[in-house]
Amino acid sequence: MLQTDMHHEVLLDISRCNACTGCTEICPDIFEWDDDLERPSLRRQTATHDEVREAIALCPRRCISAEGWMEEDY
Ligand code: SF4
Repeated sequence: MLQTDMHHEVLLDISRCNACTGCTEICPDIFEWDDDLERPSLRRQTATHDEVREAIALCPRRCISAEGWMEEDY
C-alpha cells in the first residue's frame, strides 16, 4: 500500500515536455523553470504523494512520475 507521508524520488522526463509550465505553477516547491532549457527542472529530488500528485496527474505529456508509484496512485 502507498504510504502518503513518505518521500519518493520524483522523476522528470523533459524529452516529452511541451513547455506548458503547468508543473511549475501547480507545484512551485518542486518544479522550477529553467530559462536555458526552456523546460522545467527539479528544485528537489524527493516529494510526498500529496506534494506532487496533482502535477503528475495534470501533466499533459506524462513527463512526471514518482519512484515506486503505480498509475492508480496518482
Ligand atoms: S506539466 Fe508536463 S508538459 Fe507541462 S511543463 Fe511540466 S513537465 Fe512539461
